[in-house]
Amino acid sequence: MKNITVIGSGTMGNGIAHTFAQYGYSVSLVDLDEKALTKAIQTIQKNLDRQINKNKLTADDKIATLNNLRTFTDLKSAVSKADLVIEAATENELIKSNLFKDLDNLCPSNTILASNTSSISITRLASHTNRPDKVIGMHFMNPVPMMQLVEVIKGYDTSETVTNKILKTAAKLQKVPVVVQDYPGFIANRILMPMINEAIYSLYEGVAGVIEIDTVMKLGMAHPMGPLQLADFIGLDVCLAILKVLYNGFGNAKYAPCPLLVNMVAAGHLGKKTAIGFYNYQQSDSKEPVVAARFSNVGLST
Ligand code: NAD
Repeated sequence: MKNITVIGSGTMGNGIAHTFAQYGYSVSLVDLDEKALTKAIQTIQKNLDRQINKNKLTADDKIATLNNLRTFTDLKSAVSKADLVIEAATENELIKSNLFKDLDNLCPSNTILASNTSSISITRLASHTNRPDKVIGMHFMNPVPMMQLVEVIKGYDTSETVTNKILKTAAKLQKVPVVVQDYPGFIANRILMPMINEAIYSLYEGVAGVIEIDTVMKLGMAHPMGPLQLADFIGLDVCLAILKVLYNGFGNAKYAPCPLLVNMVAAGHLGKKTAIGFYNYQQSDSKEPVVAARFSNVGLST
């Protein structure tokens, strides 16, 4: 594995590209949107500076990492030499299926096709290719340069050879891979998303306010971040998409997305990426999270 192509340069794509480039891989980062690529490189530069300030990297490491990165809007040129492609495009099955069809046609025959999907079936994505043995889930956690876990999802036909190559690659990135089978939400989101949905339901039903719900889970359960802040951080559109996959995949009403989440996504209040969700991120200098005005009067302590 030398040449890695990352597709999608949003929240996850820039972190995945950053991490591979930091560990010496040659990385091609692709997005449909030139502006998203510019923003991704700026984010990577900012995050590398943070690592330098924490003495985790040197200024020379930063230069080497940035030199390992190239950006593309044309998929064909970005994948022509890829050993491994990691798809981190929008969490939408149609977008991903079309990408897997194109990747199968454009990539060399030995290229491994991985998806960073949070919940969509790897087996179904693989069915759009003629290489289902080389299709696998490589689910990184946000923020990628910091988080150790990689959930490795074996599709129905994923080969042992490919699984082992991905496990070795994850270890080279100093990550801890965990292999799971291909069922809706895998492990991480099958457990996380019902908790986030329940937190949103608690707010929707007026049981408590944003700060109260997050404080209970932070101080009571030792979570580093409350579920509503975490939902903002993940992206409310991503949370909604994952809940729909769980709901449809298991046919069980317990996964039905809270109507408040559905409304917030429809209104474009997607969390940190749009600077408003359960919290307001417009004042970037504020250390403590500020509850969005919409929810400032909800809660037992107000
Ligand atoms: P995002 O919305 O921040 O970014 C998605 C990017 O993909 C956008 O820049 C978009 O322009 C690009 N894109 C869409 N279609 C494309 C195409 N055909 N070709 C190239 N680029 C395309 O999304 P995200 O939060 O980075 O999520 C990406 C994937 O990672 C999703 O599958 C999501 O479920 C998964 N994921 C997200 C998180 C999280 O915390 N946000 C965590 C783990 C996994």
